[in-house]
Amino acid sequence: MNAASPQTIDWTRVRGDFPLLARQVHGKPLVYLDSANTGQKPASVIQCVDDFYRCHNANVSRAVHALGNEATEAYEGARTRLARHLNVRADDLVLTSGTTFAINLVAYSWALPRLRPGDVILLTRMEHHANIVPWQLVAERTGASIRVAEVTAEGVLDLDGLRAAMTSQVKLLGLTHVSNVLGTVNPVRDICREARRRGIVTVVDGSQAVPHMPVDIAAIGCDFYAFTGHKMCGPTGTGGLWGRREHLDAMPPFLGGGEMIRQVRFEGSTFNDPPHRFEAGTPNIAGHVGLGAAVDYLDALGMDHIAAREADLLSHLTESMRAEAGVRIIGTAPDKAAVTSFLVDGAHAHDLATLLDLEGVAVRSGHHCAHPLMDFYGVPATCRASIAFYNTHGEIDAFMVALRKVRRLLG
Ligand code: PLP
Repeated sequence: MNAASPQTIDWTRVRGDFPLLARQVHGKPLVYLDSANTGQKPASVIQCVDDFYRCHNANVSRAVHALGNEATEAYEGARTRLARHLNVRADDLVLTSGTTFAINLVAYSWALPRLRPGDVILLTRMEHHANIVPWQLVAERTGASIRVAEVTAEGVLDLDGLRAAMTSQVKLLGLTHVSNVLGTVNPVRDICREARRRGIVTVVDGSQAVPHMPVDIAAIGCDFYAFTGHKMCGPTGTGGLWGRREHLDAMPPFLGGGEMIRQVRFEGSTFNDPPHRFEAGTPNIAGHVGLGAAVDYLDALGMDHIAAREADLLSHLTESMRAEAGVRIIGTAPDKAAVTSFLVDGAHAHDLATLLDLEGVAVRSGHHCAHPLMDFYGVPATCRASIAFYNTHGEIDAFMVALRKVRRLLG
């Protein structure tokens, strides 16, 4: 645990750890407000990946030579560090290419063999497509149906509605920890407890939680927790799925190939134990080694300090935007992570984002892979400014100046 407080951390020095943030875009200093899309990487992560390829590159688990051992140790070491960071056992943590793969793994390996016609998969209105589409594919093949738990206009889960929707037909609940559009932090611990009491298996999408706050999966008490590494300062193509041991043990392989077997005969094969049963083929070794370095970096800062820093930046952004006539924030939950979707009167989200880019400001515009939520708000798209601890108050001010300029241009 880091002994410093968020006030004593030199956030300017921290920002200096991220080489890319020093660059210019269209001749202007870059203001990167798209960390919910993907996070920037500190030099320690970049160096770790570089060092892996320069000095240790070999395949994992297949070679007895020194390099093979070093690569395996580095890869498994990353799993151990990640597991410690999330308070779970490394043996219950499957390393995946990210959340999308992790949720599909649960869909095909846990749900597909179990769900029957009449069963219900309960999802919330605020899910990312990665926590909707795999369930639709499974529902089509099993005869199960999808039920939706709604949100309020503020972007808060309607908890009474959610509880009422947890009927005896519901076998699985897919729930995001933090919304990538609204920033809403859902009370996943209470919801998972309620679901467990009713025998409903919970799949929590932690993609937008792990970059912003301490996450204790054991305390949440879910059945599965999926996350992605590239939003938490790690390389792309990394992430994981934690699952309760009894589920993992009972799940058949999802993909077949090398690494995931014990013995292969033409008459039939036997399979490795989890987590390796679900890691067929050569994994993203360097990426996950880099993710281990990202975890070290985040742990050295302290996730609680990161959360406090981002809360401070978010309140500055929210106050600045609220003071601006004609700007509407979508998602005003009391418990929010540093994600701010917004609409501007008379301006299309894509036009705004394109013109902001010319001012050096990177924000995302679009449906954010959340069509059902866009439908709820009756808009095709929003702009989204998402913050990380490496952003500054000055950048938020620069964003507001650019937004005013762009609005004048758009008339
Ligand atoms: N779930 C949420 C809430 C997300 O924000 C994202 C990425 O934007 C995903 C899932 C998908 O993550 P990935 O593309 O890394 O698998």
